[in-house]
Amino acid sequence: MMIRFAMLPLLLALNLSMCKKQQAVTDKPQPGSSAAPGTAAATAAPVAAATPKIKKPVVDQTAQVLIFCYHRLVDKIRYPGTEITPAAFEAQMKELKDKGITVISMQDLLAWKRGEKNIPPRSAVITFDDGWKSQYEVGWPIMKKYGYPFTLFIYTEGVRGGSLGGGEAITWEQLADLRDNGVDIQAHTATHQDLREGHNVTVIEPGGKRGRKKLTGADYEKWVQNEVVGCKELLEQRLGIKVNCFAVPFGNYNEHVKELARNAGYEAMFTVYGQPITFTSPMDAIGRYAIEANKPKVFGDAVSMIGASSGGGTAVAEVGAKDLTTHPADGETVRTALPLIKANLSSIGQIEPGSVQMRVSGLGLVPVNFDTKTGTVSYQVPQKLRDKTCTVIVSAKSEGKKVETHWTFGIEEAAATAGSSPAAAAKK
Ligand SMILES: [Zn+2]
Repeated sequence: MMIRFAMLPLLLALNLSMCKKQQAVTDKPQPGSSAAPGTAAATAAPVAAATPKIKKPVVDQTAQVLIFCYHRLVDKIRYPGTEITPAAFEAQMKELKDKGITVISMQDLLAWKRGEKNIPPRSAVITFDDGWKSQYEVGWPIMKKYGYPFTLFIYTEGVRGGSLGGGEAITWEQLADLRDNGVDIQAHTATHQDLREGHNVTVIEPGGKRGRKKLTGADYEKWVQNEVVGCKELLEQRLGIKVNCFAVPFGNYNEHVKELARNAGYEAMFTVYGQPITFTSPMDAIGRYAIEANKPKVFGDAVSMIGASSGGGTAVAEVGAKDLTTHPADGETVRTALPLIKANLSSIGQIEPGSVQMRVSGLGLVPVNFDTKTGTVSYQVPQKLRDKTCTVIVSAKSEGKKVETHWTFGIEEAAATAGSSPAAAAKK
């Protein structure tokens, strides 16, 4: 009897902590069933065994994410407010790579925000709005070349065949092809208009005639419901996907629109007010940088926002990873998910020994060995890295100045999941 009472607080604590964790649901029975009085007091063993499982995945809460928004990719710019040349676009994709900014998928961004998955300290998400066929024909091949994931925000009447889908519009077949190849497709309303009540909107009258109208009251609610919810349902049904992101046209919204989106089951809502996204950024107003031909500085300014890390305003001198003979090398793919990470800092000059820091994506700040004789900083990864790429940032102080280098290496999938046994490595 005493055992029963003693265990009650323990079980309560266990249930409370499990309520917040989706992860716990997958590998454990529901809290309600495990707390059944008959089974609970039977033995103390299940509780003891379960305790270590309730650990939060370690996510780097200092990571920052830039989200970019593109529209049309055309060689001859005619509408510089929504167009960019393919060459300029590709140069930007390359710059992200060169600057050590990792392009991650939208779903990885959301998983990080939920505290479920780590992302590299400096990341970017690429999105394309409005469903132009150039995104499929021109943008996609460039993204494939760099191995970057991306997201399309589609307004459903703008798909070819819809009331607003002309010859330059993407088709449902192209969307299905993108979907089949892992591209993320999300919602951007039905007709791409200002969603706030009291604005003039274009509506299709019964009989197919178009007219401008100021919708209010029940008429407005019916209309906006279709824009926010109907659009999501159509994309989900037509493509057999789950839509959990909503981009607001022109970035115009209010509390009512936010509430509709939340009730519709959207997890995140996007604007075009560009800013680095942090772990605590609110999910219902995630800012994206709109990159267009008439605003050539926006991209560079955005990159510089997260380009120079942590220093808190102090100048950081960037050193090329090649000069530090890093291991693994920048761009190298290793066959073990348990690599020894090394860099030789001797070329930087006199290093203040206590100042050497290493950050590893997926792990955060790690305890390093620093050999003052050789100037080598090293870290043996103790548990398998789960991502396919790993970014390392090493910083140190030399003569009072902060010096930093970063590089990224790949981990071969088989090695990352199956371990580093010779058999797994040999398979390729
Ligand atoms: Zn748009």
